[in-house]
Amino acid sequence: MSEPENAGGFPRPRSGGLAPVLVSAGAILVVVAWLLVRGDDELFFGYLGGPIAMAAGTYACLRIARVRLPRPVHAFWRRMTLVGVFLLIAAVVALLRANNNTGLSLHVALPTLAGLGLLIFTFLTLPGRQTTPVALLRALLDGLTVAVASALIFWYVVFDLAPADTSMAARLVAAVVGVGGVLLLVTVGKAAAAPDTAVDGTALRVLTAAPIACVAATILMIAGDDRSRMALSVLVLPIVGTALAVSAYLQRRALQRPAAPPTPASNRSLFNLLPFVAVAATTGLVISVSAQDMNARQRTVVIGALLIAGCVVARQLLSLRENTLALRGIRHQQAELERLALSDNLTGLPNRARFTVALAERIDAAEPAAALLIDIDDFKMINDTLGPAAGDQMLFQVAQRLRAQCTAGEMPVRLGGDEFAVLLPTDDPAAAESAAGRALQALADPFTVGEQHLLVHASAGIAIAEPGATADEVLRNADIAMYAAKEAGKASWARFEPRMRQDMVNHAMLAGELRNGIARGELRLLYQPIYDLVTGRLHGAEALVRWQHPERGFVSPADFIPVAERTGLIVPLGAWVLREACSQLARWRATYGDRTVESVNVNVAVRQLREVGFVDEVAAVLSETGLSPRNLIIEVTESSVVDGWQVRETLRALHEMGVHLALDDFGTGQSSLSLLRAFPVDVLKLDKSFVDGIAEGADRGRLAVAAAVAQLAEHLQLKAVAEGIENQEQLNRLRDMGYRYGQGFFMSRPVPADDYAALMAADPVRA
Ligand code: C2E
Ligand code: MG
Ligand code: MG
Repeated sequence: MSEPENAGGFPRPRSGGLAPVLVSAGAILVVVAWLLVRGDDELFFGYLGGPIAMAAGTYACLRIARVRLPRPVHAFWRRMTLVGVFLLIAAVVALLRANNNTGLSLHVALPTLAGLGLLIFTFLTLPGRQTTPVALLRALLDGLTVAVASALIFWYVVFDLAPADTSMAARLVAAVVGVGGVLLLVTVGKAAAAPDTAVDGTALRVLTAAPIACVAATILMIAGDDRSRMALSVLVLPIVGTALAVSAYLQRRALQRPAAPPTPASNRSLFNLLPFVAVAATTGLVISVSAQDMNARQRTVVIGALLIAGCVVARQLLSLRENTLALRGIRHQQAELERLALSDNLTGLPNRARFTVALAERIDAAEPAAALLIDIDDFKMINDTLGPAAGDQMLFQVAQRLRAQCTAGEMPVRLGGDEFAVLLPTDDPAAAESAAGRALQALADPFTVGEQHLLVHASAGIAIAEPGATADEVLRNADIAMYAAKEAGKASWARFEPRMRQDMVNHAMLAGELRNGIARGELRLLYQPIYDLVTGRLHGAEALVRWQHPERGFVSPADFIPVAERTGLIVPLGAWVLREACSQLARWRATYGDRTVESVNVNVAVRQLREVGFVDEVAAVLSETGLSPRNLIIEVTESSVVDGWQVRETLRALHEMGVHLALDDFGTGQSSLSLLRAFPVDVLKLDKSFVDGIAEGADRGRLAVAAAVAQLAEHLQLKAVAEGIENQEQLNRLRDMGYRYGQGFFMSRPVPADDYAALMAADPVRA
């Protein structure tokens, strides 16, 4: 049977659960009525209350144990069900023997003792309690003190009062049940007084009724008159059964409430003083015995011994108090140290360690959780260019914004560097995704750092915690998802899917091989001719990189350029392309003189533009190859232009140097007219997808874009180049629209440098 869940994620048992309470309480009432009306007649009916109440109590525990609960709470109620079963057996046996014997019998005592023993064990191993060897030893010593004292008291006081004909077996059973009851009272009472157990505190406190009833029953069995003995022997199990039912009911109610914030652990409980109470009671016993049976000399010795014992106990109490004070100080310091160790100095947010612990706790408790990982895309660049102090200011503001947008139950943390995370108390993908959207939205407005207004982009990855996963695994998955988000385009989020892990592995392998490939010289450049569509003559060349892998064969740049961008390999790769293309143009000029095309187009990735030394590198290559800046056209995509102010600064510096800039794949990105005005573009390259739509004439939308781009270029006095022309019809239409230049398989595929040289040689001399 499945149970509904509440918003806090706790599995919520169905409401109700009152029936066992009513049944068991009814059983008590019936037994009391029977006691009043029938007295000791028809014993069978008097004992009937026990099995009924115990069955109701056991059933209530069983129902709680069947709800999907945090593991420790679940274990507790399973054991309580077993305790109930033992006591139910005792109740049934007592019922069957009702008319034979009213005293304690071994048949009843054995299942009772088994139940009480299990109850002690259950409470000793209650989650949230200390289980270090020293703590266990202390519990054992406390228990021993209480057991010895209560055994003595039972022996001297209670047995004295017992009728002379009470059998030895009955006395022994009574002593064991009585002492067991006192021990149980200590264990249950201590646990019920502790504020930090996983099981509901009120439910635990109700359970102390069970040992109290046991102890009272034993005392009355031995020492009471017939009537009170009878009353208790029929009432004790109904009372215990009702305690179980009420306790289970309270636990059920507690689960329906939203989880309360945990109360700080404290060790102050009256039950800690129980060993001292035991010592005091034994002292009283010794005094009364010595007063009756001893002579004056013996009595002096006993009084001396008691005085010494008293002094030792007083001293113990004093040091207990001292210890408590010292412990409180240590706890305070410890809490402060923990706070420092678990939070981030710069932002004041919790840190990675705190995040991991909190996530692991939720997973262990079977509570829903998800990790949202957030990475600031351009942070390294801010640090590099504006300095670490500005970087710190930036991170501080990011932390503030993240904190401000978090809703109740979410925990924002700084994992380190420019990585942040939010622990989400949900396993609902839609809720996690909306949290991701909210977080990214909060970082979308410009940040003010010193004089500067900085726009940054952040990418986010979401991973839902699956049951049984470790916190590290969840974080790693969120990390993988975040990289997938970055790859798909910045300022976005992605939710983890298992296939992403395989992609990641493939990319890592490809990246390793690419690194070797660059070193082994497996890369080469092809040149695709760019033609003047009006004169039909060669106008320029776009350098396109090729990777001839020894085993994989030809690898498309569409596959390895993104990998190179993500791993940073694009920086050395791009540097090689730039140098090689410029050297090639220089070699052609040496050979073909005026016949050589004026410029070569080189594709540059945004990652290269973000490198601080990029402008200097371009200048160095130009001067080494003896080219002038106007011989180089750098192709960038629109998305890289909107990437950030640093990239725009780089492009402006290149433009000022005289290098021409082309916007590649124009029309596919976030083309905006203001961008064209603000940014020094020289060439627009109409994306192939618009050229594709032209010949059929069917796609009016694409046709309109192609025409509009041509007009735009004309008005802004930019060069318009159409990419990917595959037939004559496309060429004609594009030329008619106003495209002066074009490239495509129809004229020529990208070709090796020698083939390109042959084309140049065949071309009429340039004016
Ligand atoms: P891109 O810069 O837009 O390059 C044009 C792509 O279109 C080239 O693909 C070219 O071979 C292809 N193409 C040209 N005409 C036609 C045609 O008529 N039909 C068809 N179907 N395709 C045509 P390629 O060489 O596979 O390059 C793909 C992309 O990889 C390039 O797109 C560019 O973004 C990137 N890339 C290539 N080389 C480099 C490089 O050296 N550095 C960087 N950063 N990126 C590069
Ligand atoms: Mg290009
Ligand atoms: Mg292109």
